[in-house]
Formats: sequence, C-alpha cells, structure tokens
Amino acid sequence: FDQRDGFIWLDGNLVAWADAKLHVLSHGLHYASAVFEGERAYGGRIFKSTEHSERFRASAQTLDFEIPYSVAELDAVKQMVVTKNNFSSCYVRPVAWRGSEMMAVAAQNSTIHVAVAAWDWPSMFDIETKMKGIKLDIADYRRPDPMTAPCRAKAAGLYMICTISKHRAERRGYADAMMLDWQGRVAECTGANIFFVSNGVLHTPIADCFLDGITRQTVIELARRRGVEVIERRIMPEELAGFQECFICGTGAEVTPVSEIGPYRFTPAAISRTLIDDYSAEVQLKQKAA
Ligand code: PMP
Repeated sequence: FDQRDGFIWLDGNLVAWADAKLHVLSHGLHYASAVFEGERAYGGRIFKSTEHSERFRASAQTLDFEIPYSVAELDAVKQMVVTKNNFSSCYVRPVAWRGSEMMAVAAQNSTIHVAVAAWDWPSMFDIETKMKGIKLDIADYRRPDPMTAPCRAKAAGLYMICTISKHRAERRGYADAMMLDWQGRVAECTGANIFFVSNGVLHTPIADCFLDGITRQTVIELARRRGVEVIERRIMPEELAGFQECFICGTGAEVTPVSEIGPYRFTPAAISRTLIDDYSAEVQLKQKAA
C-alpha cells in the first residue's frame, strides 16, 4: 500500500505517495494518540466533507490535541487531494497523530501531524450481489463503556478490538462481525452501524457508546423522508429473531444488506433496496448541488 502512484498531503505539502513517511518513534504509533476519518468522493466531490472535518477535529480534542487546521482548511485540502490525484469517485483518509518529540505517556509538547490520502475504493458490490446479503459473526469483544474509553471519537486505539474481531470473523468465513456493547446489547459492526426492519419500521441501537456514523444519520433522514418510522432503542441480541431485514451502513460499506448474524436469518427486501437506492441518489445529488 505504501508504493503507489499519486500524491499524499502531509503537514502542508503534497508529496509523492512513497515519500509520505513518519518516524518510528511517533507517539501516535506507540500510544495510539491518533485520530482519522473515512470519507468518499462521488463525481469528484466529497460527500458531507464538512461533517467529517468537524468530527476529525472533535476526535482530536477528545484525545487532548488540536488539529492545526480549521474545518474550512481541511475541506479545501481534502478536495485538493481528490482533484490532484484525478479521482472522480474515491475513498479519502485524513489522519492526525502526535509526533516523536516525547516518548512517554505524557506528550503535551509533541508536534501534531496531519496527512490526507485518497485511493480508489469502488462500491463493494452491484445491487443484485448486495441484495443477497452478507454474513456477520458475533464478536467476542464488546464496545467499551463510555466511562472506559472515549467511544464517540474516531480514535485509532478504539480500532484494535475491531481488527481482532474482523480477522476472527473472516477466518470463520464471515464478512464482518456484529459487536455488542459493554452491557451485551447490539452495538455496531467493526466499521459500520447496523439497522433492522420489523414490519416496515426501522430499529437501530442508540449511538451512545459507539460512533454515530454520518451514514447512519443520513439513512435515518432518508428513511423519515420516505415516511418510514425509525426507532433508536436498546436492542438485545435475542430480539434479532423478530426482524425480517437487516443492513449495515457506513462510508465504506454504504448501505449493505445482511442475510445472517450467528443463528439469525434475514431476507433483504423492499426497505433495504429503497435505502440503497436513496443513499446512492443522495450522494450523487449532493455533488451536483455543490
Ligand atoms: N462505526 C465504526 C466503528 C466505523 O469505523 C464507522 C466508519 N467510520 C462507522 C461506524 C460509520 O461511520 P460513518 O458513517 O461516519 O462512516
């Protein structure tokens, strides 16, 4: 991944992809003092760029550091990276981390580094393949209690248990893992939020101990625009037997139906299809308006 054509923006300059390097004694590497974003551009424009820039800065503040660029500056840099790399549709990855001046837990005086990369990451499947649904494992690890970790931040450290859970799921033949929260309730997947359908109504867990995804918020808005009721509530895993449809959503996953979670089965149907279509129209439309 580190040897490609193209440019990465690093601390104020566009550099060749292979030259975007950092020191091995970076605090971010040792102590996870790093935050990132995941965004998608459609038709050359980043969907909800400002919301992502705001979350990026907020995640850093939660980790006790300030990103040295404003939301407007970040938006401009991200757009420039997409344009300079000649992408129409792509994935965009801003990342910020503490540098190498202080190698101990305390690192108040380290330099804050920021980089933005972009790469080709096509939508995962065509709609008919998508409508077959993916299979989810149930992860052993749980999302931490908000008193244990800053779980609303998109912080690198919070992804350690996601990577472990995703690897275990893939080893066992699943596409991803559904994670429970610290109290054993349904939370989210390793890089996406989750929704269920029961008799035409959408149910999704309350996002108070995991990321309230920008896609999740968009899907809720799109469903309500269609007159579909959306209920945010506590969902216990045993309740999954009572749902007919399930899908996950996130910047990377967009809207992806689920056919199986552990012992539970779902049949992707009208609501999943409508929201896939509406999400796809929304991301295209927003670009035309921009
Ligand atoms: N949960 C986790 C753990 C994620 O990594 C992501 C992807 N950023 C999401 C949910 C969905 O967030 P978004 O819709 O903002 O991409």
